[in-house]
Amino acid sequence: MEDKFIHSFRYRNLWYSILSAILALLTVLFFLGIVHFISYTLLSNQEYRQALETATSDYKNQTSNSSNNSVSDAIYQNSLNLKYAPDVNTKNSQSNGELDPVVYLVALFIGFASFITYFMIFTKKMSSYLKEISKGIDELAIGNFDVRIPLRNDDEFTRIAQNLNRMAVEIKAIMEEERNTESKKNELITNVAHDLRTPLTSIIGYLDLVSKKDLPAEIKDKYIGIAYNKSIRLEKLIEDLFSYTKFEFGEVKFYKKEVDIVKMLYQLLDEFYPSFTEYGLEYSFDVTVPSAVVSADGDYLARAFANLIGNAIKYGADGKNINLRLEVKDTEVIVTITNYGEVIPKKDITHIFEKFYRVEYSRNEEHGGTGLGLAIARNIFEMHGGQVTARSGLDGTVFEVILPIGQ
Ligand code: ATP
Ligand code: MG
Repeated sequence: MEDKFIHSFRYRNLWYSILSAILALLTVLFFLGIVHFISYTLLSNQEYRQALETATSDYKNQTSNSSNNSVSDAIYQNSLNLKYAPDVNTKNSQSNGELDPVVYLVALFIGFASFITYFMIFTKKMSSYLKEISKGIDELAIGNFDVRIPLRNDDEFTRIAQNLNRMAVEIKAIMEEERNTESKKNELITNVAHDLRTPLTSIIGYLDLVSKKDLPAEIKDKYIGIAYNKSIRLEKLIEDLFSYTKFEFGEVKFYKKEVDIVKMLYQLLDEFYPSFTEYGLEYSFDVTVPSAVVSADGDYLARAFANLIGNAIKYGADGKNINLRLEVKDTEVIVTITNYGEVIPKKDITHIFEKFYRVEYSRNEEHGGTGLGLAIARNIFEMHGGQVTARSGLDGTVFEVILPIGQ
């Protein structure tokens, strides 16, 4: 509290006022001293001259009136007069020493003017700093958030400057974030428009063929079947987009409770059983613990793992095997899903978690993906305080998920 006061603007001003008052007083005293000295010198010269004149005339009288008196007596008398002259003078100056009231008025004015002058000199630095601060505020007002007000002293003004600088940094960050979100949205809209148009164009094309041409029933059925499949793909794309935007813009609500990941993965593997047989795949699940409980939204977490298993099946069909492994290390659950076959090239591996990113080999209709699955899965894992990474090589493509236990 005391320290705060010492570094305060009030404290500094108090000192400046005291110092200015002392200096103003000294100036007034100096002025009065000079006035006194001048009047004293003038008066004493005048008195001295008067005394001298009196002494001379006395001497003249004595020498003319009394012939009996010796010259030396007269000179003695004269010297006495001269000797007493200053006394007389002092008396006179004392009586005249009460200076004219005008002098006091002038002294008062000088005191007042010099106080203001000293105070202004002392506070000049402060007022120029205030100017700097207000210039900074003007810059901020016109949207220049790169401006930084220099920090001088250690008082309220410095704290104002500090806060303004912090405000500039924060506003700039918010604006950049908004700009980022805006460009993300624009990018998303462009991608969505593009991805929606492709299946839609072919649906319209096939339906057009079916409606206009007199086609054999067999061909008609085939075209209708294609249009139907494309519609399903379109539906999935719209659903994924919907989920993705909800995650991206933080509109998802998790209802967390205790979830046993071991149990969840066994269930998912059961659900995927038809797909495994369809793609002619075998799977194994190595688990070192009977259960691994995390605090999670079971539906969302299952969806994220389902995407990883679904990908392993889709893109690892040539590898014949899929391995799942779960282990608990310290306070983390680590799940790895490994498939073989197509290796993800190095240039792609860092991008596969980005929305709409698909590696060249999967950009065909056969897999029917949208490139949003991993982006959504990553969002889900991260929102549970976890992470997902991928590596790919000749010894397989491995997706590793780490989740904190009991959070
Ligand atoms: P969907 O949105 O339907 O999941 P998708 O599977 O194409 O579509 P992601 O799951 O995001 O999209 O995967 C992105 C891309 O990463 C895939 O298109 C594929 O090229 C590659 N990829 C993902 N998982 C694997 C995997 N296990 N093995 C090889 N490549 C993979
Ligand atoms: Mg996928």
